[in-house]
Amino acid sequence: MGSWRVDAVELPYGDRRNTWWVDDHGVRLDRPAPDAEQLPGRFVAWGLADAHAHPAIAPAAGGPTARDATATAAQLAAWAREGIAVVRDVGSPGGVSLDVAAAPGLPFLTAAGRFLAPAGRYFPELLVDPVEEDELVAAALAEIGRGARWVKVIGDFPRVPEFTDPAMTYSLAALTQLCEAAHARGARVAIHATLEEVDAVVDAGVDSIEHGTGLDEATIVKMAARRVAWTPTLCAAVSLADDPAAPPDRRRIANEARERFRELVPMAVRLGVPVLAGTDAVGTIAREVALRRARARSGRCVGGGDHRPARVPRRDPEARQHRHL
Ligand SMILES: [Zn+2]
Repeated sequence: MGSWRVDAVELPYGDRRNTWWVDDHGVRLDRPAPDAEQLPGRFVAWGLADAHAHPAIAPAAGGPTARDATATAAQLAAWAREGIAVVRDVGSPGGVSLDVAAAPGLPFLTAAGRFLAPAGRYFPELLVDPVEEDELVAAALAEIGRGARWVKVIGDFPRVPEFTDPAMTYSLAALTQLCEAAHARGARVAIHATLEEVDAVVDAGVDSIEHGTGLDEATIVKMAARRVAWTPTLCAAVSLADDPAAPPDRRRIANEARERFRELVPMAVRLGVPVLAGTDAVGTIAREVALRRARARSGRCVGGGDHRPARVPRRDPEARQHRHL
């Protein structure tokens, strides 16, 4: 493994030159590397973190489609060139992201493996192997055995292909068992949660709420006490609210969430909830942070999930995908 020495002024707030050592994945080392190669340049900006991404999913006009491991690695490399240094992959078709090996030029990847959802409650193109409730724990443990540090459960979803009647996918008892089993193996549970049942979902022991359009103040307080993270995916919420082609009930839910988020996002940050910046399949880290700033009524920027500036758009801003993934 090679390593680099960096002598530079840290952007945006540094005022003097400092020295760091990083490995050939760009990960900072905690001690000097004696044979490190000196990097040229005078300034350094840390990479951005995307806490809710799907590199193994390609947006398409007819709905999202699955990528293979080679195409997934190519997508990750493209994001790295745009400034993304850390990616939390919250679900991939068949868990294909777990097959992408770490390599120079790729972001640091934490992958959740396959989507955990029952038949008829997720995009069929992405749900390679549906997971019924009695298989939930075993399926999660299998992904952890493959290297997943998180597992991703679709906690609620509309019935597909109609995209109507959103409902919980698994019982709270099953979610509780899932969380206990994952935690016993040192993994964490991220849950797609968009309904008001999110309060009970937090009680089940999950580690991060994805989207959270059904959150209220009481649940935010509970999440703060338990250090449950929240990835509001504001780009996704806003795009759905403004999309005349979206189903009316989902537009209404998204509009209501957008209004509530004006209060809840700053409140969550104030209380210490780890609020993460994640783009899902619709946005960029830059826009995500801008939307979050617009929701901070005090005028103070509440920052990105990584508390670093968002300078580099990650994806084609014209790319559109109307549904939360
Ligand atoms: Zn997603």
